[in-house]
Amino acid sequence: MEFGWSTHEQAHRARVRQVLEQLLPPDWERISVHGPGSDRQTAYSREFCPALDSEGLLVPHWPRAFGGDDADVWQQFILGEEMWAAGEPRGPQYMNVNWIGPVLMRFGTPAQQQAYLPPIREGRAIWCQGFSEPSAGSDLAALRTRAVPVEGGYRVSGAKVWTSYAGHADTCFLLARVPAAEGGAEGKAGIVILLADMRSPGIQVKQIPALIGEGDIHEMFFDDVFVPADHRLGEEGQAWDIINYALQNERVGIARYEFSRRMLDRGVARLKALGRWIDPGVREKAGHALMLCEAARLLVYRIVDGKARGLPADAYGAIARWAVVLADNGVNDFLTEVLPEGLLGEDPVQQAHHQRAIAAGVASGAAEIQLNLIARRWLELPSERARP
Ligand SMILES: Cc1cc2nc3c(=O)[nH]c(=O)nc-3n(C[C@H](O)[C@H](O)[C@H](O)COP(=O)(O)OP(=O)(O)OC[C@H]3O[C@@H](n4cnc5c(N)ncnc54)[C@H](O)[C@@H]3O)c2cc1C
Repeated sequence: MEFGWSTHEQAHRARVRQVLEQLLPPDWERISVHGPGSDRQTAYSREFCPALDSEGLLVPHWPRAFGGDDADVWQQFILGEEMWAAGEPRGPQYMNVNWIGPVLMRFGTPAQQQAYLPPIREGRAIWCQGFSEPSAGSDLAALRTRAVPVEGGYRVSGAKVWTSYAGHADTCFLLARVPAAEGGAEGKAGIVILLADMRSPGIQVKQIPALIGEGDIHEMFFDDVFVPADHRLGEEGQAWDIINYALQNERVGIARYEFSRRMLDRGVARLKALGRWIDPGVREKAGHALMLCEAARLLVYRIVDGKARGLPADAYGAIARWAVVLADNGVNDFLTEVLPEGLLGEDPVQQAHHQRAIAAGVASGAAEIQLNLIARRWLELPSERARP
């Protein structure tokens, strides 16, 4: 068995690095400390993504029919690793190219594909993901935002919370429920996905001050917002399958451990410069943090390999996501202990990583849910409900 990278993959990685070197401005590190949804990073993503597109590296993994290059799963993944290692200069647009575009290709109508895919492919679309609500986060199926069927579409009312990128988004990938009293099915089958134009009358977006940076997360209020029927993605009963497909792409598509590793290497370089690297205790702790990053990498590679070979998703997905969170937290704990001055204003990059690592186990779904999945699917433990 060959565990190394092929010549072709090595060349692809070298090209991505070279393009990043060429495109990223000298003050990129200073821009990257702002959150991915901040004014600064969103504005930069609008410059960076079209430039990446002109190098053929924004959507190479998309099919040729939609303007991509039919690049394979590993090529897409290598691109993602290098973007994360560089601090994710695609900003909020990583989400569009990784999962919103592919979901539209699979489930959208030809008219939806024609309307939404070109702006994503050209790096000029900002989307937000309207899933979580005040009483529906981990338990997404409990969402209460109402989509009442009316002539020609739906009238939407409700509140969403923790929405990243909403302040700049053109379109919201919105989950809502057709109430049973209005003919909707019960439970998950009553959920619809609407591609809501964020300029529609009745949508109000409020920024939530957050640890991870200004302009990153929001509340959204929908007050009798009209969404035309042709903006519904898929059929009413199909939404849950579409969401599962989307989340599978979202959760293992992020090579976050690569950024943790970059932070660790940066911290070690600083410790060496300060003469603190000679301390064996510090080295041992660095070794532990490195081990967490590499374990996360290998577990994620296993998932990518399964995807590349067309295998069905298994319990390793949950293990990999948990490992990625442990790596981010492990590096953060190490840096906080050995370079505390970095958090006291000396190093804005370390400070930004510290803040994002705290949120890493909550954003994209609470990581503890993965432990339940590991217990059930991997350890075959009985669920709470199955206990006598
Ligand atoms: C930085 C950031 C960005 C985000 N961006 C978006 C976005 O763009 N769009 C969007 O829709 N949402 C977004 N979210 C929201 C995120 O998806 C939710 O916060 C997450 O799903 C958890 O939901 P909750 O906050 O309601 O917490 P809850 O579901 O109330 O969970 C709180 C805690 O309880 C525990 N818990 C809950 N249920 C279980 C269980 N079954 N088993 C074990 N433990 C459990 C976990 O420790 C969990 O962390 C974002 C969150 C963050 C932090």
